Amino acid sequence: MNEKRIENVIIVGGACAGYTAAVYTARAELEPLVIEGFQWGGQLQNTTDVENYPGFPEGIMGPELMQKFREQAERFGTRFISDDATRIELSDGGIHSVWVGDEEHRTRAVILAMGAEPKRLGIPGEMELGGKGVSTCGVCDGAFFKGENVAVIGGGDSAMEDSIFVSKFANDLSIVHRRDQFRASKIMEERARGRDNITFKTPYVPEEFVAGEDGKLAKIRLRQAETGETEELEVGGAFVAIGHTPRSELVVGQVDTDDAGYVLTEGKSTRTNLAGVFAVGDLVDHTYRQAVTAAGTGTMGALDAEWYLRDVPPSPEAHWSGIAGEAQPDPADDQERAEVSAS
Ligand code: NAP
Repeated sequence: MNEKRIENVIIVGGACAGYTAAVYTARAELEPLVIEGFQWGGQLQNTTDVENYPGFPEGIMGPELMQKFREQAERFGTRFISDDATRIELSDGGIHSVWVGDEEHRTRAVILAMGAEPKRLGIPGEMELGGKGVSTCGVCDGAFFKGENVAVIGGGDSAMEDSIFVSKFANDLSIVHRRDQFRASKIMEERARGRDNITFKTPYVPEEFVAGEDGKLAKIRLRQAETGETEELEVGGAFVAIGHTPRSELVVGQVDTDDAGYVLTEGKSTRTNLAGVFAVGDLVDHTYRQAVTAAGTGTMGALDAEWYLRDVPPSPEAHWSGIAGEAQPDPADDQERAEVSAS
């Protein structure tokens, strides 16, 4: 570690939200350091065509989109560590530390952008057929299965929402769930039941995704949960919608999270309960989870961090690079604000 250096801002996580936060903080001359992870790029790294990211009318491959995000951040001077953060120690308004192995990086502001991972069934064929018929995002990939028979696996709101969306494109859609009762809200379940081409297949447990001769998904081997009998469901697409796990393990217990481990933020901001700690992207969001919404909150996190650094004077030990003159609040600004609010 460089004993002297205290960063302005460290961004933990290298995907849509983190790289967008880097573009903004770099352009604000805050010289962000992104700890992007060994497998940077997040969920888009495992995605093929992305057709719903604005600005790419012909679509773009997920990994290529992430490469472009990263290059844009780099262009304005972002520094990257392509390894995983192994420990994070957050303070409330003081200096925060992020470790990569034995290396400690200290910072005045930190933007948490570690994302969330879709839960997996852990059955044969699931990973092998990713991008070849098996998907974890109906909203992203549903339109690729026009006229095909497909299955959505899960019994929560995500499964219902994916089913309603994908059923607009699919021929027949089966919701495969391991129990007869659903975790989904009644209204979502009823909406799914109201679609002509959706059938509910319960209680069935998927045991294997099986490829056809072309190497793409051809069927799912299912086990009836009560009788144990197995059968095959012929489908061209399968959407695993059994929930997500936010990657908050390094900060749980330090920053406020909800019961599922998503980091909580104040109102419409990205501020957490700790001063100088901001959270963005899928680490916070269990509703929208789109590349473009994650990028949007990355922008919000960058602006919140920039305003925090502007308004909170650095401690004497902080090495303030870049916009030293702007670090201290100007008393004249306070006077001006007081006059405006009084008028
Ligand atoms: P969830 O509510 O946890 O539901 C997950 C579903 O997947 C459950 O039915 C569960 O079955 C099933 N499941 C889990 N592991 C499985 C496995 N290994 N094999 C087979 N099935 C498995 O997750 P979610 O649907 O993603 O929703 C998460 C939160 O986001 C909820 O609060 C939800 O309301 C919210 N959300 C809201 C909306 C909306 O309002 N538009 C949309 C999406 C999500 P069991 O029931 O048997 O455990």
